[in-house]
Amino acid sequence: GEVAGTQQMTPSKQPAIEDSDGSTTPFKNKIKIGFSMDTLKEERWQKDKDLFKKAVESLGAEVEIMAANGDDAVQIMQAETLISHGIDLLVVVPHNAEAVASIVKKAHSAGIKVLAYDRLVKNADVDLYVSFDNEQVGEMQAKAITRLVPKGKYVYIGGADTDNNAHLFKKGVFNVLQPLIDKGDITVVYDQWTKDWTPANALANMQAALKANNNQIDAVIAANDATAGGVIQALTAQGIAGEIPVSGQDAELAAAQRIVEGTQTMTVYKPIKLLTEKVAELAVKLARGEETGADRKVNNGKIEVPSVLLPPITVDKLNIDDTIIADGFHSREDVYKNV
Ligand code: BGC
Repeated sequence: GEVAGTQQMTPSKQPAIEDSDGSTTPFKNKIKIGFSMDTLKEERWQKDKDLFKKAVESLGAEVEIMAANGDDAVQIMQAETLISHGIDLLVVVPHNAEAVASIVKKAHSAGIKVLAYDRLVKNADVDLYVSFDNEQVGEMQAKAITRLVPKGKYVYIGGADTDNNAHLFKKGVFNVLQPLIDKGDITVVYDQWTKDWTPANALANMQAALKANNNQIDAVIAANDATAGGVIQALTAQGIAGEIPVSGQDAELAAAQRIVEGTQTMTVYKPIKLLTEKVAELAVKLARGEETGADRKVNNGKIEVPSVLLPPITVDKLNIDDTIIADGFHSREDVYKNV
């Protein structure tokens, strides 16, 4: 059922042709989506990749996927390759929110729209942004930790400075912390970004924070589970893991295990399946020139980007069974393996 060079038609107006098995297929080109990913390093991104492919294919479209291993030049090259392969729409998870703006320009000059996936592209005419409410993620982290430690010395281990999400998470955290800082209840004694979100860099930062404060800290807000892993490694080396609350995000299996073991306080679960299904649906609509119904606007320094922001879910020891396990994100057996 494929013919080259036909104009885009809405599904209802498409003539149908009969296949050899008697079924009918819409008479049009198959939509091809390019998916340019930053990395597959954190556990979540492999899920994003697999579930997005599934979601796209279940809509009768296809996707070509490339991951840049955290390298801006590679990501730009790969996006150019995808464009040259005749994609109808580009979906991009930027490693660097600013650097990827050049990709948006290139796609547009080839008549291809661009959807920012999970992370916003800054200072570019992005067509659509689909993510979770990332400021709310930060608020959830800070609320969970301040409930346990309403007063004391705080460490903030942020994400990658180059990732717009890292700034949104931090904004959310300080929405909650600032009034407590102003009251004099909380002091932030250490506050650092984590280059490329790596556990090794978070570990080094946490070691520096502990050293500068003679281990006298009361709580740690870590931006995600990867950085929380580095933080907890540093706390373990000082024999104080489990005594100091630590936040996270992504509901990685290792983090879920640390939560039931008691070394990590909470994580934020972002149902990746919902994200991939939403993006697949809207990507196909955008490629066909249809309305997406995006109901939010997020400023990216250049324009108000039409956006869809899904709600994140806060997870701790008490609700882990009813959230990530009930959802099949991880099995109960895996989560409780070490306890
Ligand atoms: C994502 C997080 C992820 C982090 C590191 C952020 O942009 O929203 O879910 O943990 O990148 O990959």
